[in-house]
Amino acid sequence: MASRDILDELISRSTRGPLQLYRAVTRCPSCGSYALEITEYMYSVPYFGNIILSIGTCSSCGYKYRDVRLAEATEPKKIIVKVEGEREVRYLLIKSAMAIIYIPERGYEMLPGPASTGFITTIEGLLHRFLEVLEILCKDKPDNEVCSENREWLKNAIEGKQRFTLIICDNEGTSKVIGDNVIVTEIDEECREKTQKL
Ligand SMILES: [Zn+2]
Repeated sequence: MASRDILDELISRSTRGPLQLYRAVTRCPSCGSYALEITEYMYSVPYFGNIILSIGTCSSCGYKYRDVRLAEATEPKKIIVKVEGEREVRYLLIKSAMAIIYIPERGYEMLPGPASTGFITTIEGLLHRFLEVLEILCKDKPDNEVCSENREWLKNAIEGKQRFTLIICDNEGTSKVIGDNVIVTEIDEECREKTQKL
């Protein structure tokens, strides 16, 4: 299921709203014009509680913006998920725009850029994103062993056949993973080092 579908599904089950919070025109990250009109809404959805959805369209280039985050921010935090199999792969999560995601056993990292937005997905959805990036990097390398090995690992992980750790460094405190095998701690040196790379 695509991440947009999950968000739409949750919003359709919102017990509140939408409550419009804010409307502003800002600089478009795609074309640079001050023509991106953004509206923020608050919804109260299953699993996550109050979330803020920001949506916008640039009237100059047509760029579409969509960001989601928890309404109530906590302290900056590190979220650690011990993925043992299929159950954890299905965990729902909300990733804030500037959160860093990595899988230490594999050296995979998802670092935010200036146009990054928050989204709701599952761990499976994140693995699909890693696989999409791999396919781009490996496009012209049909017989590359490193590509094949990573592709196989990711496909197995998507099916819940790999054990690994998924870590989110959340400096904004508006990310969350819904599930049992989830540890939340303070931001540590490892997160700080990765944040410095941005
Ligand atoms: Zn634009």
